[in-house]
Amino acid sequence: MAMHRLGLHFRSFCYRSPQLGFLIARLASLALSLARNWMSMEPQAAITRLKELGLLRSQGLIGGKWLDAYDGKTVQVQNPATGEVITSVPCMGRRETTDAITSSYDAFSSWSKLTATERSKYLRKWYDLIIAHKEDLAFLITLEQGKPLKEALGEVIYGANFIEFYAEEAKRVYGDIIPPTLGDRRLFVLKQPVGVVGAITPWNFPLAMITRKVGPALACGCTAVIKPSEFTPLTALAAAELALQAGIPPGALNVVMGNAPEIGDTLLESRQVRKITFTGSTNVGKKLMAGAANTVKKVSLELGGNAPCIVFDDADLDVAVKGSLAAKFRNTGQTCVCANRILVQDGIYEKFADAFAKAVKNMQVGNGLTEGAVQGPLINEAAVQKVESFIKDATSKGAKIMLGGRRHSLGMTFYEPTILTHVNEEMLISREEVFGPVAPLLRFRTEEEAIHMANDTNAGLAAYIFTSSIPRSWRVSEALEYGLVGINEGIISTEVIPINTFIYISMYILCCPFGGVKQSGLGREGSKYGMDEYLETKYVCLGNIKDE
Ligand code: ADP
Repeated sequence: MAMHRLGLHFRSFCYRSPQLGFLIARLASLALSLARNWMSMEPQAAITRLKELGLLRSQGLIGGKWLDAYDGKTVQVQNPATGEVITSVPCMGRRETTDAITSSYDAFSSWSKLTATERSKYLRKWYDLIIAHKEDLAFLITLEQGKPLKEALGEVIYGANFIEFYAEEAKRVYGDIIPPTLGDRRLFVLKQPVGVVGAITPWNFPLAMITRKVGPALACGCTAVIKPSEFTPLTALAAAELALQAGIPPGALNVVMGNAPEIGDTLLESRQVRKITFTGSTNVGKKLMAGAANTVKKVSLELGGNAPCIVFDDADLDVAVKGSLAAKFRNTGQTCVCANRILVQDGIYEKFADAFAKAVKNMQVGNGLTEGAVQGPLINEAAVQKVESFIKDATSKGAKIMLGGRRHSLGMTFYEPTILTHVNEEMLISREEVFGPVAPLLRFRTEEEAIHMANDTNAGLAAYIFTSSIPRSWRVSEALEYGLVGINEGIISTEVIPINTFIYISMYILCCPFGGVKQSGLGREGSKYGMDEYLETKYVCLGNIKDE
C-alpha cells in the first residue's frame, strides 16, 4: 500500500516535471546497480574495505583512545553462519569500566554545557556518516549477527534515524513556567540531563539498540558508557569510530566489553553513573534493577516478551498471513517483539494454517550474505538447543509438527522454519519466549477467550491483532496488557520499508514510544517520550520579587 502510494507520488511528480523525474530515475537506477555490486562483493573484499576505512575495530574505546584489555585478555567474535572467527575483542572488566566512567563523567561537564543546537550538529554529522557507510555497517551486522543483508541494511537506516530524530528533538527539550500562587514568586521547571548513562545492549540489533539509547542520551547532554553484547561488538565499535569522526568529543561515548557481570556491577556501583538503560533478557534486567537500588539510579528496561498474534475469523486472510509471517520470522524469530504465540479463531483456523504453511515453506534459509536468503542462522548453539527443547516439550504434550521441526541441512546454527499445531497453554512454548523460527498455533473460540489467553503471561511487550472489525480492534487493543499493539500489521517497530536494495520509504515509527508493561520492562524508547528517560526535572523558585 505504502509502496503503491510512493509510486503514485513519483509518477505524478514525473508528470509535472518530466526532466527532473527522468534524472531521478536514472540516478536511482545507477544507485541500484552500485548497491547490487556492493551486495555481490566477496566477504573477504568487504572485510578489507572495512579495515581500510578503519571500521573494523577490535579494541575498546575509552576517553577517545582505542585500547586493549589491561591484562591483554580477549574474546573471539564469530560469524554464526560459518563458525569462522572474524576477530577478537578485548575482554574488559572492572578497571577498564571504571576508567570509561571517569572519562564519561569528565566529558559530561563540557558536553552538557553545549547548546542543544551545537549537540544537534554533532549528532547530525554522526547520522550522515552512518548513512554514508550504511552498506559497510550492514555487512558487519550480517557478519557477526547473521541476519540477511537487506534486513541488516534496514536496521542501519532504522538505527541511524534515531540519531537524526534526536538531533532534531535536542532543540525541543522545553521546560515550563508555572503560574505562582504567591504574588512575589516566579516558578520555573527546568529539564536537565541526568549525567553519565550506562547502556547495556543485546546482539539481535547490534546498531539500533545502541542508537535508540545513545541518540537521546547525547542529544540532551548526557554522556555514555556502552556495553554491547560480546557476540556482536564490532558494529558498536564501528559506530563509535564514526562518532569520533563526527567530532563527538572523547569521553562523551565510551565502549567496553568482555566480562558482562563485572562491567555491569561496576556501572551499578558507581555513584557517577546516574542511569542504566538496558535491552536484554528479563533475568538480567531484574538483576540490574535490583543492583541500581543501592545508588538509586534511574533505570530503563526493555526485556523479554511473549507476544500473542491473534487472528480473528473476520480477518483478511492475506493480511493476517503476511502480518503473522513478518511478526514471527523477522530476524529468524530473534526479536523481543516477535510473535511467540499465534492464536487463531476456530472458524479460520484450517484456512489460516494452510496459507501460513505455504508462505513459511517459501522462505529461503541461508547465509545472510547470499542473495535471496530471508532466514539466517540462530545466534549460537545454545539458541538452537533452546528451540529444540521447546519443541520436544510441546510434542511430548501433544503438539504436532506441521512443518520443519529440525536443524536445517545447512548445518551450523541454521534451523528449519517450523509450525506447530495442537499447541496448548501448558506447553513451555506458550509460556516463554522461544526466540527462534518456531510458530505455535493455538485455537480459540471467543474474543473473551483470546484476550484471556493473550494476557495470561508475565510479559507485556508487543501484541498483534488481525480483524476487519473496527469496534473489535478498539475493544481488544484496550483490553490487551501490552505496551505495543499492531492492528492488521506485523511490523510496528521498524523505520523503513525497502522498495528494493537501494530505495526505502521512511515510516513514522520512530516518533512512537516503544516499551513494555508488566515484566517486559520500564520506560519507553524512541519518540518524544524516549527523551524524558534521560532528563531530570528541576523546579526553580524565584522569590521576593517586590513591587517598585
Ligand atoms: P541474551 O540472552 O539475549 O543474550 P542477555 O540479557 O544475557 O540477553 O544479554 C543482554 C546484554 O546484557 C548483553 O550485552 C550481555 O552481555 C549483558 N549482560 C549479561 N549478563 C549481565 C550482567 N550480569 N550484568 C550486566 N550485563 C549483563
